[in-house]
Amino acid sequence: MTQGPGRVVQGAMIGLKMPDIDVWSERVVTVLGQNPGPFTGPGTNTFLVGTSAKPLLLDLGQGQPAWLPLLEQALHEHRGGSDIEAVVITHAHPDHIGGFEDARRRFGERPLYKLPWPGMDGATSASITLAGEGTVVETEGATLRAIHTPGHAEDHLCWWLEEERAVFTGDVVLGAGTTIIPEHGGDLLDYLRSLKRLLELAPSVLYPAHGPPVRDACGRIAAYIAHRELREQQIIAALRAGQALVVDMVAGIYADVPVFLHPAAAVSVGSHLRKLEREGRAARDGESWSVLASPPTTAD
Ligand SMILES: [Zn+2]
Repeated sequence: MTQGPGRVVQGAMIGLKMPDIDVWSERVVTVLGQNPGPFTGPGTNTFLVGTSAKPLLLDLGQGQPAWLPLLEQALHEHRGGSDIEAVVITHAHPDHIGGFEDARRRFGERPLYKLPWPGMDGATSASITLAGEGTVVETEGATLRAIHTPGHAEDHLCWWLEEERAVFTGDVVLGAGTTIIPEHGGDLLDYLRSLKRLLELAPSVLYPAHGPPVRDACGRIAAYIAHRELREQQIIAALRAGQALVVDMVAGIYADVPVFLHPAAAVSVGSHLRKLEREGRAARDGESWSVLASPPTTAD
């Protein structure tokens, strides 16, 4: 799987195409959010979940006008219906809740299951039905259970689909490439713990918010963990070699990556440095970083 020493996870979201409406299983239909871009790939997947004419809607897209007519078309063609039972949300990034007003105008007030994130929930905040670790949302043909998976966003919930041993992974695991750990609300240490929790569930398939379904679920999660561990080793090596600035580390570690992606790479390096700082393994002085001796171990 590894090609050269530089990366563990291959493939990129850029240029990836997805159908507007797609059937992923007997109880899962996707509707593409019509918001392609450098961070969203082909756009955000929104999902109809359940087998009745009134299924759940998981995530709301970004608020593109073309999304709602496609959602109505999918409801009609694949469920013979025109309504939804409730809304289930992975996290409050704008490409996941931006379609809230459009959906409310069309369907009226519906329960909206979400872990609140004050300051980020926007228009959804008044409509939230509190969800958190272990919350169960049931509809005909589908049972969803929330897994709190912070790291990409502090309010992030993945949703376990019991009937299929599937996980709606939101932005924790994507259909291609890797996710970003933003400076605001992101935390790499939490993120790695979240990945390990998902791995322990031994899911049979992942339904990501961007890109196609991931059939090699455990393999992909393990590769995500290995990718970050390799990156951490590279950053520690750079610090030991005396590179103190993020920009220099990016230039070295991401030499095989186009320069226009280096700002995103800098966010990633920053997330690693903050993790090392939190673990007492690195320190900063202004813009300069240095490695600290490993904390003493009590092993052996
Ligand atoms: Zn996100």
